[in-house]
Amino acid sequence: MGVEKYHKILDSSAFIGGYTPSDEKNYTIPEVTEELKDLKSRIFLEKSLEEGNLKIINPKREYIEKTEKLAEKSGDILRLSNTDKKIIALTLQLKNEKRKVMMITDDYSIQNIMKILKVPFKAVITEGINEIYQWEKICIGCKKRYPPEYPLTECEICGSRIIKKKRK
Ligand SMILES: [Zn+2]
Repeated sequence: MGVEKYHKILDSSAFIGGYTPSDEKNYTIPEVTEELKDLKSRIFLEKSLEEGNLKIINPKREYIEKTEKLAEKSGDILRLSNTDKKIIALTLQLKNEKRKVMMITDDYSIQNIMKILKVPFKAVITEGINEIYQWEKICIGCKKRYPPEYPLTECEICGSRIIKKKRK
């Protein structure tokens, strides 16, 4: 899926969508763990903590302030909850520590801020991780199949365009 090389930041929607951390580079904030009420998400959360695949970090004040300024500028300030702001602040903090970060979220306002920050993101339910195996890429010329995360748009064999289609 190409997420292995990133430090992943998970918001509540990631857990609700059933995202399961599979390496130790996953982070969230205390507020997210408090927000998760349904049994399924709590099980995902506790399992990840037990396995050492999730770290809970409280972002520093300076990054929360930076986030507020950023959200004011972008016009997202009213759509972001305090939890959202803190999860964005954590992203800024890890990014500032020179880590390669990726946000896992289904929330459009958070995704919008990630675009501004040039931080890659993945959605769990709407287009992303859980469904990725139901998609494939295929060359419209020679019909060669590529994995869904294949980054190029031209076929390596015949140079035709590669399109994304649903796997049968
Ligand atoms: Zn081809």
